[in-house]
Amino acid sequence: MFTGIASTVLSQTVGHYLGTGERTDGVLVIALLLNIALIMIGWRRHSDLAGEVRERTEAEARARALAARDPLTGFHNRRSLADEGAAMIAEAVRRNKAVALMMLDLDHFKSVNDMYGHATGDALLCAVAAEMMQIAPTGALHARLGGDEFAIALIFDPRTPDMIEHYAERLVHRLAQPFEAEGQRLHISCSLGIARSDFGSATVEALMRAGDIAMYAAKKSGRNRLAWFDQSMELELRVRNELEEGLRFAIPAGQIVPYFEQQVELATGALTGFEVLARWEHPTRGVIGPDQFIPIAEETGMIADLSLSIMQQAFVCARDWDPALMLSVNISPWQLRDPWLAQKIIKALTETGFPASRLEIEITESALFDNLALAQSIVGSLKNQGVRLALDDFGTGYSSLAHLRALPFDRIKIDKSFVTSINEAADSVAIVTAIVRLGESLNLPVTAEGVEDAAIAERLAAMGCAKGQGWHFGKPRSIVGVRKFLRERGLIAGIPPENVALITSRRRAG
Ligand code: C2E
Ligand code: CA
Ligand code: CA
Repeated sequence: MFTGIASTVLSQTVGHYLGTGERTDGVLVIALLLNIALIMIGWRRHSDLAGEVRERTEAEARARALAARDPLTGFHNRRSLADEGAAMIAEAVRRNKAVALMMLDLDHFKSVNDMYGHATGDALLCAVAAEMMQIAPTGALHARLGGDEFAIALIFDPRTPDMIEHYAERLVHRLAQPFEAEGQRLHISCSLGIARSDFGSATVEALMRAGDIAMYAAKKSGRNRLAWFDQSMELELRVRNELEEGLRFAIPAGQIVPYFEQQVELATGALTGFEVLARWEHPTRGVIGPDQFIPIAEETGMIADLSLSIMQQAFVCARDWDPALMLSVNISPWQLRDPWLAQKIIKALTETGFPASRLEIEITESALFDNLALAQSIVGSLKNQGVRLALDDFGTGYSSLAHLRALPFDRIKIDKSFVTSINEAADSVAIVTAIVRLGESLNLPVTAEGVEDAAIAERLAAMGCAKGQGWHFGKPRSIVGVRKFLRERGLIAGIPPENVALITSRRRAG
């Protein structure tokens, strides 16, 4: 439009100054020059614009590539695994092949982060990624899904799944070798779950879910291994997820409560105290045992809140009991990674008015592996306040003398697996005898758990085992049950707390 108007205006102006006759030729020349100039301007503008478009397209491609990559390892990220994985599945279908997806999770990576800091954790992740690339089959797709979770997808011939298994085994083996990161020599391992697209998981999402389930199964059966997905795992996972969801609500709602199991002097039969055992009083499922929810609470980090809630309830319940009665609480290895644990326990003792000298904490040998220095400092603070320390489940783990010496234990507990069979199995007798003798020589009294009948109690007493607990003396009791039991024996000092409120309100009124 501009060109049209401009040329008309110009030709009129030029025509005005030149006479007619030559006027027509002159106008034509000017019009021609004008058109050439306009074409040149147009071409300049076009080439400028093309450059701009090219630059923008390149920048967009760069941004897209960055958004598709994990910045730390350069692997694909979760989003681009979805896109690239879908393309891989389509290609596999076209070629009559299948896709195997491996979900890989490092074992105990969190403790590396906690112990050496995030820079070392990141360096370790890079070293792991480099190791994975070293043995990667051609065409494999590598992704980091966040934290210490990785995924590897590859096309394979469904008639020869062995090839996948061999590769996965090699990967598990390689990641169990020590790594150097930021000057630290680190020992980790991985758990790996494999799902295949020709066995019912036809989308990337389904493959990832199935691979994840299998990975959990590998973790559960001892870590540092691989597992293929199978349908039975699905049901188990659904139950687990339901428990996890329920637990998030159950802890603040006070559904996780302490039960109390008697601990008895074997020589005299005198009651010395109780072990506090967690129970989930589920509104529809009834009472759920700790073996079902403690591992979930540990994995999801809920164990700290759960444990403190149990302790607070137990301390409140037990503060007016006969002062000779002790409480033993279980402390999970996970809690001993919390530098504030001692302070939290002492705060709970102070707030509830339960004396530290009546508390014993039970820890297992596995609690000593992660960070012994931290465990020693936590235990040191607690012992300074008068809390006692027991080594739980002795005989099941490493049963090492070095572990017994690593912390100032006051007592050893023999695991019930040996005690229940003491009158049937010769090796159980041998183990129990050895532990009792060890206790004697180290001057540590021994408690046996799993005393199911009088014959076991007698045998243990004859061996010189100090204390026992188990169904022979009574199953764990609820708060109401244990208070009733103690009141009947005159072991609740002073006025029952339910009457204290009544008396104080009467006093106030009078
Ligand atoms: P544990 O510390 O070894 O606790 C002893 C377990 O043996 C308890 O199981 C108890 O009910 C059971 N038991 C007691 N007497 C007998 C008996 O005569 N025969 C047999 N067969 N079993 C007996 P429970 O309550 O199911 O606890 C299982 C485990 O859960 C505990 O083992 C402990 O490791 C863990 N746990 C329980 N409560 C807590 C808690 O509050 N915090 C933490 N971190 N762990 C807990
Ligand atoms: Ca215990
Ligand atoms: Ca035990």
